[in-house]
Amino acid sequence: MLKNDQLDSWDRENFFHPSTHLAQHARGESPSRVIKTASGVHIEDRDGNKLLDAFAGLYCVNVGYGRPEIAEAIADQAKELAYYHSYVGHGTEASITLSKMILDRAPSNMSKVYFGLGGSDANETNVKLIWYFNNILGRPEKKKIISRWRGYHGSGLVTGSLTGLELFHNKFDLPVEQVIHTEAPYYYRRDDLDQSEEQFVAHCVAELEAQIAREGADTIAAFIGEPVLGTGGIVPPPAGYWAAIQTVLMKHDILLIADEVVTGFGRLGTMFGSDHYGIEADIITIAKGLTSAYAPLSGSIVSSKVWKVLEQGTDESGPIGHGWTYSAHPIGAAAGVANLKLIDELNLVENAGTVGAYLKKTMQDGLSDHANVGDIRGEGMLCAVEFVKDKDNRIFFDAQDKVGPQVSAKLLEQSNVIARAMPQGDILGFAPPFCLTRAEADTVVSATLGAVKAVL
Ligand code: PLP
Repeated sequence: MLKNDQLDSWDRENFFHPSTHLAQHARGESPSRVIKTASGVHIEDRDGNKLLDAFAGLYCVNVGYGRPEIAEAIADQAKELAYYHSYVGHGTEASITLSKMILDRAPSNMSKVYFGLGGSDANETNVKLIWYFNNILGRPEKKKIISRWRGYHGSGLVTGSLTGLELFHNKFDLPVEQVIHTEAPYYYRRDDLDQSEEQFVAHCVAELEAQIAREGADTIAAFIGEPVLGTGGIVPPPAGYWAAIQTVLMKHDILLIADEVVTGFGRLGTMFGSDHYGIEADIITIAKGLTSAYAPLSGSIVSSKVWKVLEQGTDESGPIGHGWTYSAHPIGAAAGVANLKLIDELNLVENAGTVGAYLKKTMQDGLSDHANVGDIRGEGMLCAVEFVKDKDNRIFFDAQDKVGPQVSAKLLEQSNVIARAMPQGDILGFAPPFCLTRAEADTVVSATLGAVKAVL
């Protein structure tokens, strides 16, 4: 086993970490965190510290850590057949079974699953499929994609562009020209405080309509959105938002991509976020919860409407020129099958709904009175605490105040609880595994209260 010093120096010398302040890390100014093992909702670092992971990794270890059923399925698959590709009609029992299990759970207008590796490549696939779709339908001008400010859809060239967070555009020359951003459905941060939720939804719709009019509906291919904004601050939409947006999209013949990378497979207490909000998507993006992150796997679930045109395309111009070596990787697929079975057997979707509601309510009861807690919100097993400088006058902290990072650091230091300081700097996010118990939710809330009181 490597000594801590050796690991630290190898880490700083060799490992290019994603989403990290590279210079600080290389200089040793930020901690090297080496995680060794995990079980249930807890992870353990190399020094034996046991931490309650109230963010399920990156909101992905939905069934909790250390599930032998999934580990064994992966090992069995690796021994029997570690790899074969899925080009030109090849498949494995695991990938075929998983596609059937996904379609059995997906909204009824869905027809086929294309497998990728992560949420970013799945959204990249979606954009390509939609461009292909419009080319086959003889409307090559209809290519722009509307996304929302604060949306997160990945880190690729197109998907980083779809992401509506400046951090992911900065110095990367993004967004690309085909992407347009529209208003985030963030009622708490509305400009006009007198607006009701209904009026705010009408305002979001009016902005969308104006953008479509400006650009021309015949240039806009699709709208992409997460049912609940995730990395943008964990923001459930105001009542009626999705129905109103969907009406506009249908009127202008614009496809809808529901990015369910976070919400898919139960996080909102329903199998899909689309079920929760009555969204009728044309394509659904899935990743994280598909395997609970036991192996990398993502998917684009395409509706019958899209599928029909894809089939027509290949009749007209030959096999579709889009594929990854690891599409439908058998090990990922085996993990997915075992994961979805476990979710059913342990009733985890229901638990995400009930314990998630308990977590939010307990958080509200415990923290709402604090002078610097402006908003506590959530849906299912997603919860956020937003800090403000002055609650009554709604004066916000600046990102440089780093209140979120300070509270999350204190939470870890005082109580060994992990919550995520969302990139905005003033929001603390919670997205625990679905197996969280009420007692563990109580621990998370009392620890958070302690950290908030210590910092603010
Ligand atoms: N879409 C959403 C909604 C996400 O939250 C994420 C990642 O957090 C992605 C896409 C990108 O997924 P990945 O990081 O697996 O590429």
